[in-house]
Amino acid sequence: MRSRGAGDTSSLSAVAILVAAGRGLRAGSPTPKQFRPLGGTPLLALSLRPFAACTEIRRAILVVPDPEEARRLLSGWLPSGMPIDFARGGETRQASTGAGLEAAEGASLVLVHDGVRPFITPDLIRRVLSCAAEHGAAVPLLPVQETLKKVSPEGRILGTVPRGEFALAQTPQGFRREVLEAALRRAGSEGYEGTDEGELVERLGHPVARVEGLRENMKITTPGDFLVAEAILARESGAAAHGVRVGIGYDVHPLVPGRRLVLGGVEIPHSHGAGGHSDGDLVCHAATDALLGAAGLPDIGQLFPDSDPAFRDASSLDLLARAGARIREAGFSLGNLDLVVVAEEPMLSPHIAAMRERIGQALGCGPGRIGIKGKRGEGLGFEGRREGMAAHAVALLMPGGEAGKA
Ligand code: MG
Repeated sequence: MRSRGAGDTSSLSAVAILVAAGRGLRAGSPTPKQFRPLGGTPLLALSLRPFAACTEIRRAILVVPDPEEARRLLSGWLPSGMPIDFARGGETRQASTGAGLEAAEGASLVLVHDGVRPFITPDLIRRVLSCAAEHGAAVPLLPVQETLKKVSPEGRILGTVPRGEFALAQTPQGFRREVLEAALRRAGSEGYEGTDEGELVERLGHPVARVEGLRENMKITTPGDFLVAEAILARESGAAAHGVRVGIGYDVHPLVPGRRLVLGGVEIPHSHGAGGHSDGDLVCHAATDALLGAAGLPDIGQLFPDSDPAFRDASSLDLLARAGARIREAGFSLGNLDLVVVAEEPMLSPHIAAMRERIGQALGCGPGRIGIKGKRGEGLGFEGRREGMAAHAVALLMPGGEAGKA
């Protein structure tokens, strides 16, 4: 083997083994829990994704009750860009790990992970990998936060034990291949069943190094765990159903020869501009009403009347920025804003990027949260006859004043 620095995994061939061979009916469903959807995606596919995001992992082996059925249940959910193989699990955790190890041909380093821990992160995977490369065996641990009671088999409390002497073991657990092989062989010859791979390596007398675990790297076992995991996923995707608000806005202006045409804060060269008291920026007007409506605030005409000297000379982009400030004061942040501008001419596509940029700046977010589409009137209606232009907007607001800044 080439010489390498401590913990350097670059010259090692690392394979992830996801053990998901249980019938797992405890979580209260006829489908084994590792295939049950979480946030719409099968649990096992979710647990696999962070491994696929690590280029250090060459391949993944999914150890399942029935490879044929697993391929069918996971069809369309598996990450691309990483070879994935299936192995048939055994009667026990150890037998399943052994089957995975056998399938992980050519691997010099293996990570064994519970297929029902979807919140594992690439960072923890890399720390385990590096520690296992250096020490031969590595296990993520968490301190015990609750008070620990010693109980009798009948559940009677016998006393309280010092929790500082204990820690909770998670996965992935990482091993040099020969270490895990020897540990499984020894346990097999002794007829010993452990509850994790680290325990079998300890029994060999081989030291197991500690990696700091991750509180959210929970193991999903019970129906209650599924509920907690759904809530974590919803929060992570920014789509927590509670407190999400949607608003709609619409504006129309007549087209007048010789006026400036300002749309989305961008001046667009054209023979006609939008008539009216203001700069006639119907894109900003529709967007402002969508934001205010979503937050349950009064509309643009009520909040920013042009009879008020404070707003008389304000640009429509300024009013949109003020509306953005008002929704943040009301405890919301912008999820996204989407617009359709209906105009027969001029061609809007060359100006869309600049409009998204200006609106994003006004609202304190990136242009990625702003969508704008130009549509022609196709000769129909006032837009088609070039008498006016219209803008339609929808805004999605989320609870919390900070999320919209990303
Ligand atoms: Mg208007």
